[in-house]
Amino acid sequence: MLEPAGIARPELEPGPLKKAYVKSYGCQMNAYDAARMADVLGAEGYTATDSVEDADVVVLNTCHIREKAAEKVYSELGRLRVLKQERRAQGLDTRIVVAGCVAQAEGAEIQARQPAVDVVVGPQSYHRLPELLARGGRVVDTEFPIEDKFDHLPARRNLGSSAFLTVQEGCDKFCAFCVVPYTRGAEVSRPVAAVLAEAQRLAAGGVREITLIGQNVNAYHGEGAEGCPVGLAALVREVARLPGIARIRYTTSHPNDFADDLVRAHAEIPALMPYLHLPVQSGSDRILAAMNRKHTADQYRRLVDRVRAARPDIALSSDFIVGFPGETDADFADTLALVRDIGFESAFSFKYSPRPGTPAADRTDHVPEAVMSERLTELQRVLDARRHAYQREAVGQVFDVLVEKAGRYPGQVAGKTPHLLAVQFDAPQDHIGRIVPVRITEAGANSLFGERLPEAAAA
Ligand code: SF4
Repeated sequence: MLEPAGIARPELEPGPLKKAYVKSYGCQMNAYDAARMADVLGAEGYTATDSVEDADVVVLNTCHIREKAAEKVYSELGRLRVLKQERRAQGLDTRIVVAGCVAQAEGAEIQARQPAVDVVVGPQSYHRLPELLARGGRVVDTEFPIEDKFDHLPARRNLGSSAFLTVQEGCDKFCAFCVVPYTRGAEVSRPVAAVLAEAQRLAAGGVREITLIGQNVNAYHGEGAEGCPVGLAALVREVARLPGIARIRYTTSHPNDFADDLVRAHAEIPALMPYLHLPVQSGSDRILAAMNRKHTADQYRRLVDRVRAARPDIALSSDFIVGFPGETDADFADTLALVRDIGFESAFSFKYSPRPGTPAADRTDHVPEAVMSERLTELQRVLDARRHAYQREAVGQVFDVLVEKAGRYPGQVAGKTPHLLAVQFDAPQDHIGRIVPVRITEAGANSLFGERLPEAAAA
């Protein structure tokens, strides 16, 4: 079973009792797309179900980033095929939809290999989901359509206090290991007016925090007033002016697109939260060049210095690939040195695995599995040590926490600090959506615990 990123729920609507189960894997872009697919189905009268056995429509929003992602999708589809047969024996129809990056990459092959699949739809076409389902029969739509899907999506539902907002899609960087430029296409930015209109609707629905998302979000260059191009920093400034929006984040960024005005934005815009996810992948210049990252480790270090000069308390996060083809012990030592120099507050680290169709997949100088495992363990030991120390440093400090949901235990709520640390504390459920001061009393393995302070203590 793939690890689900989440189950997106269409809101209860009057109408025929059709049920939809939407399951998403992978990144925030996929989580956003899954929520929007749930909106699309909700607008068609589908109700949500957490139970795949009850679903009339099952959507798997797939991710191509993980190793053997396609094989895992096929084994999940094998289980769904059995379920479909069982429901058919009860006189119930089940439509199975494969969406996301595996759908885009594998296209018709998915239907050829798994006859139970009814619809294969790519990330740029899911606004057509009702039409594709209504066609009946078996359909593949992995086009990059002329129309903008965002113009055809219904109003967003199920808004919490924090929401993703897609501002940019696709990537022109062509890192040697990555499928995104092939599955998501070239970089495209949404116009400023469209982003602001969606942000306003989110604010009106009670959202306090917006994370602007894109595969390469800091390459954002949307059309502004009178057709002038607008960069991410200016977009953040515009969103920060909207009433109701207290917090702004953005992800994911490429070091080469980090403009000076974005660095300045971290010093000048209070609503821009002190957290930055800035993937580096490796600390070795040789491997960075082989990865086609087009920056060196020292250029990355200097960028971090500039960002930290602008916002000294910023929490840094990154991505690392261990065991890229040709990586030597010396290259790996350079990665450890970079990690120690910078001191990332959080990070995602993986062993390299080839993605079909990418340049790196053709390389033959693979790092042995055992060596990759050893290096990953060592890297994660260093990363975890810093993360745990950072969590412990939070104890005794007071943070404004945006309350997002009920906590793990009755009487508790859960939220995030400005630095994106998860916090649980005792408070009534009506605090969800509020920003309250919390003193941190304890650091757990993955979450902090705290006590709510009087609102006057808010920073
Ligand atoms: S910048 Fe990111 S999305 Fe683009 S090719 Fe590189 S890893 Fe993939």
